[in-house]
Formats: sequence, C-alpha cells, structure tokens
Amino acid sequence: MSDPASFSLPHVAKLHAYTPGLQPGESGWLKLNTNENPYPPSPRVAEALLREIGSDGASLRLYPNPTSAPLRAALAKHHGLKPENVFVGNGSDDVLNLLVRCFCAPTAAAGFTWPSYSLYPVLVEIQDGRAAMIEFDRTMRLPLEKIAASHTKAFFLTSPNAPTGVGFANAGIEKILASFHGILVVDEAYAPFAGENAVPLLARYPRLVVVRTFSKSHALAGIRVGYALAHPDIIGLLDRVKDSYNVSRLSQAAALAALGDTSYYDAIIGRIKATRDACVAEFSTQRGWFTYPSQANFIFTEPCDARGGTGPNVAKALYDFLFARKILVRHFPSHALTASFLRISVGTDDEMLVLSKALDEWQKQKPTPA
Ligand SMILES: *Cc1c(COP(=O)(O)O)cnc(C)c1O
Repeated sequence: MSDPASFSLPHVAKLHAYTPGLQPGESGWLKLNTNENPYPPSPRVAEALLREIGSDGASLRLYPNPTSAPLRAALAKHHGLKPENVFVGNGSDDVLNLLVRCFCAPTAAAGFTWPSYSLYPVLVEIQDGRAAMIEFDRTMRLPLEKIAASHTKAFFLTSPNAPTGVGFANAGIEKILASFHGILVVDEAYAPFAGENAVPLLARYPRLVVVRTFSKSHALAGIRVGYALAHPDIIGLLDRVKDSYNVSRLSQAAALAALGDTSYYDAIIGRIKATRDACVAEFSTQRGWFTYPSQANFIFTEPCDARGGTGPNVAKALYDFLFARKILVRHFPSHALTASFLRISVGTDDEMLVLSKALDEWQKQKPTPA
C-alpha cells in the first residue's frame, strides 16, 4: 500500500536496466572496457565549446536549435545526402530508443541478432514490446533466413557487430533487404574503423536506416551525439517522437567542430586500426588465441591459459588478473558464445604494450583449476 513503485506499469516494474561498463571514479586505471577512443578529440572541439560558452555563458540562457539543423546540414554534406535524410539525437542510444518507440509495441515485434549490443532488448522492454532474438552460431555469419522469417516491423543489426568486431559486407545487408520486409536498422557505431559501410545503399533502399555516433570514432562519448541516416519519411517519424530540444547547444557545437576536422580524425582512426591489426595478429598468431577478425576499435579473443585451456573460467580468471593490475576489459559471462572470450578495446600502442606484458605474466602462471 505504501510502496510508491507499486503504481508502476507491470512491464516497467520488471524491467532490467542496461549494464554499462565500469567507469572507475579514481585515476590509474587502464580503461580498455567501453570502446572509448584513446586519443583526445580534435583541438577544434574545445575551441568551439569555449566559443559557444563565451566569456559569461550568456548563450546558455537560450534553447538550442531544436532540430540541430546546422549539424544535420553538415552531416548531409559529409555523407553525400540531403538534410532531409538526417536525424540527430542525444547519442545514438537516443536514436535507437526513438526507432524502437516508432516501430515496436506489445503488438509489434522488433528483432535483433544475439550476441549483439545489449541495449536493444532493454529498449524493447521499455516499450513493453515483443522481441525476436536471432542467435548467431560460432561462425558469426549472418543468419539470413532466420532474419527473414522473424517477420518483425524493425530489425536491428550491429555492423561491425559488438562484442565480436565482425563486420557484415553490403552484399549480406542487401540479401537481408531482399528477403526481410520490415525496417532494417544497421547500427554502425564502429563503421569508421571498418572497410565498408551501408551508407551507399541508402539511395536504393527506403527501408534502410543507418545509425552512427560521435562517441567512438570521434572521441566524444562524453558529449552525447549520434545520428540516423534514412529516407525522409523515416526521419519525419523520428522528428515526431523526439524530445523538443534533444541535443544541447554545447553538443551541437562540439559535433560540428569535430565533423570539420576530417584530417585529424583520419589520422587517429588510421592509428587505431594499425594498433588493432597488430594486436589481433599478436593474439592469434603469437599467443594462439582464437580471435575474430575485427573491423571495430576492440578485439574479441578467447584466452588460453598456460595449459592451453579455454572456457568461461579461464576468461574470468584473466579478467580478474587484469582487474587486480588496474587493467579493465569486458567479460560477458551470460551467453555461451561470449562467456569464454574477453572484449578488449584498442588503446594507444603504449597502452597495448602494458596489456601485452600483463598477458605474458598471466600466461606464465599456474593455470586455474577447472
Ligand atoms: C557504443 C555503442 C552505441 C552507443 O553510442 P552512443 O552514441 O554513445 O549512445 C550504440 N550502438 C553500439 C553497437 C555501440 O557499441
């Protein structure tokens, strides 16, 4: 009777919130757990933020541009599209949430592959929506027939996928679009680190939505800007359901400045890809660990202990070993396809050397009892 939460809707009462990676409060950690960029954003970002604030912050009295119109125009130009093809959100999580709001309900299912970005099932639960979870097998190849047979209104495909780093070629995405008849959302949070992306398909497929973010490739996870590229009619739906002022003045200014400095971002993205490829080679060739080819800024690898053993306990033992040395990585113990792996974000070369030395030390240790 006195429990105020008892008034909530039943689906809200049983909600499981998304579990973000650890953000330690104190310094001294090597953070390889949330796929943040190890390099700072373009220096133009801080300049733009200071300019936006001005000497006294007076501009902050005023609401931001409600549609982020200048940023939409700049993004359209950047991708060779029209402003009507662009929607800007408070991080791509906001964009994904709004897409679920448009296409998912108790009577309308949304689908996604599994394992993948674990926010999707949470967003579906918030809508009290029906979910169709399509399982990968260990090959991580696209389960094309199962996606077509899901008969969902909207299907969320992460490419490159998280937490595996495996990218899907446009040929595969076109096969989905040929056999699946709902809205296909390709979450391209990591596409700037990949060889191919689905943006060129937008002109031919009005049911395709590409979602991007400034968080990873543009080193702006703290500023919260993401966006969708799609047919103007889909952008129109998102505009109907969004918050009136969903992206702050500072966020819009920061993203615009970042977008203007392509040579800076080409350089740091190139460096991350080189570090990634060297680390994948080290894990697979030198250490002999099964490691998926990565098209992202993280590596998904199955560690072997000194006895050559693998499995959830081995992965957990290495996670704990690294944690004790203040190195944070990510372990996903709840699914059979992920439990014996660790996801390691790509840091700087120096950071990866610190990790490498710790891994050498661990491999020399007595194996943990099974
Ligand atoms: C990090 C990530 C996001 C979230 O990006 P934000 O723009 O920071 O909200 C979305 N999708 C995937 C697959 C991600 O890994």
